[in-house]
Amino acid sequence: EIPELSVPQFVLAGAAERADRPALVDGLSGETITHGELAFYVERMAAALAARGVVKGDVVAVFSPNTIWYPVVFHGIAAAGAVISPINALYTPEEIAFQLKDSGAKLLVTVSPFLDRALAAVQSAPVDEVIVMDGAEGHASLRDLLTSDAPAVQVDIDPAEDLVTLPYSSGTTGLPKGVMLTHRNLVANVAQCRPLFDLHEGDERVIAVLPFFHIYGLTVLMNQGLAWGCSVVTLPRFDLEQFLRTIQDQRVTRAYVAPPILVALAKHPLVDSFDLSSLRTITSGAAPLDESLAHAVETRLRRGASDGVAVSQGYGMTELSPVSHTTPEAGHEPAGAGPTPKGTVGYALPNTECRLIDPATGEDAAPGERGELWVRGPQVMKGYLNNAQATAETLDAEGWLHTGDVAVVDDEGRYTVVDRVKELIKYKGYQVAPAELEAVLLGNPEIADAAVIGVQDAESGEELPKAFVVRAPGSQITAEAVQAYAAERLAPHKKIRLVEFIEQVPKSMAGKILRKDLKNRA
Ligand code: ATP
Ligand code: MG
Repeated sequence: EIPELSVPQFVLAGAAERADRPALVDGLSGETITHGELAFYVERMAAALAARGVVKGDVVAVFSPNTIWYPVVFHGIAAAGAVISPINALYTPEEIAFQLKDSGAKLLVTVSPFLDRALAAVQSAPVDEVIVMDGAEGHASLRDLLTSDAPAVQVDIDPAEDLVTLPYSSGTTGLPKGVMLTHRNLVANVAQCRPLFDLHEGDERVIAVLPFFHIYGLTVLMNQGLAWGCSVVTLPRFDLEQFLRTIQDQRVTRAYVAPPILVALAKHPLVDSFDLSSLRTITSGAAPLDESLAHAVETRLRRGASDGVAVSQGYGMTELSPVSHTTPEAGHEPAGAGPTPKGTVGYALPNTECRLIDPATGEDAAPGERGELWVRGPQVMKGYLNNAQATAETLDAEGWLHTGDVAVVDDEGRYTVVDRVKELIKYKGYQVAPAELEAVLLGNPEIADAAVIGVQDAESGEELPKAFVVRAPGSQITAEAVQAYAAERLAPHKKIRLVEFIEQVPKSMAGKILRKDLKNRA
């Protein structure tokens, strides 16, 4: 059953019951918005936008780091019937302008530290108005909007048809694509996830360190968190010390992260200086997570009086609003099933159909064999904006979304995501997954971080696995030692052929390795 509600109606449905409990807490300043205030502000925001001429279907772009006001803006725009297009906080004026034009944004909401970039962008991609949340000379502020006496609005929203958000995919494999998501897509996905979570109602504090502008932070962390009555503790960016201190001081119970944060939790010396005993669950998504890394984090955080932390994993993509698979939390497994192995992304969500397609034949892969994952369900996007060709290539006439990821399923229905089809390194007729080689390298205590790409060898015409390695502090590990370490643990065709030492692996704010940058460098 998918509730026939708009996103703000659904997310705020329980707000009156928990009116006095914190909904949003600024992880740095402690400033708080209660669930009751959130509902009030969202209603005011929608009214003020309507008074400024925003009507159903208009696009409002939001360019901001995570703050406690971001969800107010998000749900206020949605309640006005408009569509939020969240912009990556790291974007340059050119990139912002691209998204403003592509999405047809009418308004731009930003913050004063981002105003220079925002104003540079609207030079070439004009909008009707730039609203600066925290105020700036000559611009309306959030305070102006939230204190206006504009009449309340009731917009008639058709959840199945009307868009609520136009996030852009990460642009890992090409230009970012605007993804059309309806109210129903998002509501369905929050509802689909709920039975798999072991929520301690009224006592969950979720850390929002992944950006709200990316689909993962946007729905899993902001909307699920608020709909489920959690307190969402915001941080503007990932800084390990700030992250650890906030977990400690705010007694955070749940962290949604991407693998780079788990690498830090497994390896960084700072981790031991903080009391993380409040933390019960860490959920990883956005990129492949190796079993050994999940275990390393659980082992390290199991100490003192704490029962320890369970690491779980979800899989998704912008086009899936975003989740199609997740590992059930302890006690929420399907009847009769045991604990879910770490390293798998768990089961398909309720109402989610999956197929694995053998790329060679286009037929369903044999049991236990790898194939491209196809997904069908109420969370599948409506299509890409202004890109009928990409839509046709990704979403077929029967409603199957072709994910572009390779996966395998076990007898119990648990999926393991291998890597992207496009990232697989073709070597002598084999297909080598960079994620697998990276996981092996990360097992070496002398390696702080690693990323692998395939580089074309002019002579042989083969793609050679090349590792970019960050040495652990004090380590002098050599390229030969790196290669030997991997060779001991991998089949011969997966050998690392080239090694380059770097200071830092380039990663996006959403936690993805920027392989494009590494390829350009190579
Ligand atoms: P673009 O589509 O623009 O190239 P992108 O695919 O990185 O960028 P997102 O929608 O942010 O954009 O990311 C979805 C992708 O992230 C998935 O297709 C998959 O490759 C990867 N991913 C997400 N979760 C997992 C996971 N648990 N394990 C492995 N890969 C994951
Ligand atoms: Mg993608």
